[in-house]
Amino acid sequence: MKLCRFNDNRLGLVEGDHVIDVTSALDALPAHKYPMPRNDQLIENLAMLRPKIEEASKSGPKLPLAGLALLSPVANPGKVVAAPVNYQAHYDEAEFDPEIRHGKDIVKIQTIGLFLKATSSIVGASHGVELVHLDRRNDHEIELVAIIGKPARNVKVENALDYVAGYCIGLDMTVRGAEERSMRKSIDTFTVLGPYMVTADEIGDPHDLNLALSVNGEPRQNNNTKNLLIKVRELIAWASIYYTLQPGDVFMTGTPDGVGPVVPGDTIDARIDKLGAMQVKVRAQKAG
Ligand code: MN
Repeated sequence: MKLCRFNDNRLGLVEGDHVIDVTSALDALPAHKYPMPRNDQLIENLAMLRPKIEEASKSGPKLPLAGLALLSPVANPGKVVAAPVNYQAHYDEAEFDPEIRHGKDIVKIQTIGLFLKATSSIVGASHGVELVHLDRRNDHEIELVAIIGKPARNVKVENALDYVAGYCIGLDMTVRGAEERSMRKSIDTFTVLGPYMVTADEIGDPHDLNLALSVNGEPRQNNNTKNLLIKVRELIAWASIYYTLQPGDVFMTGTPDGVGPVVPGDTIDARIDKLGAMQVKVRAQKAG
């Protein structure tokens, strides 16, 4: 099942190049009072909602996908967990490029561990990326994103993929500089998720998916998730030793080689096998 959020918080079932509006299925979500759950309610209740989404799709209006404003497929992730330098080819380019290193040693992921990004940085594909530091280098990073489906704590590696509700494409945007990753990668709009979520049953093993990113039609990144240094199942198991992963948490699994700068006016095209493609425009953040 492919699910998108679009326009004014509508829920859509993606079928080919069309979307069926299945927003009415969300009426089945439980009502909550303050304090609200710290997770994503669509993802937590996805198994219960699936038959209702299928039912709603029989009568919902059918819309061309191309005409919709695509929001982040997950509305309320409690965490954005991210893996630094998780492809050897990216480690190699980072170690030898002073603009990427920015005076720091590139520390192996096994040593430095995972990091967190602010959830306020999340946008959907149609929103676009807004650059704040125009005097600095701002880079694109295409990443496979796993969306956690149920609470995961001290999960075994061999069972870890059972905790994934689905996958989407992620852009882990980065401003180069001396600050910690969690600050440089948490600028508003610096986590782009989309174009929609594909449920895990349609993907199976996520370790043989091609990722490709181009800027204004110029190829920049092209690799395959089989080259992840720490695999998705290992990342989830590792993180779950430290903190409970909650339904709707999004896990950015790392970017391959080919990262490079973007400037206002650029259009990023990001695509991953089975997960579709998204076009993301880059602009300068408006003053004020
Ligand atoms: Mn990254």
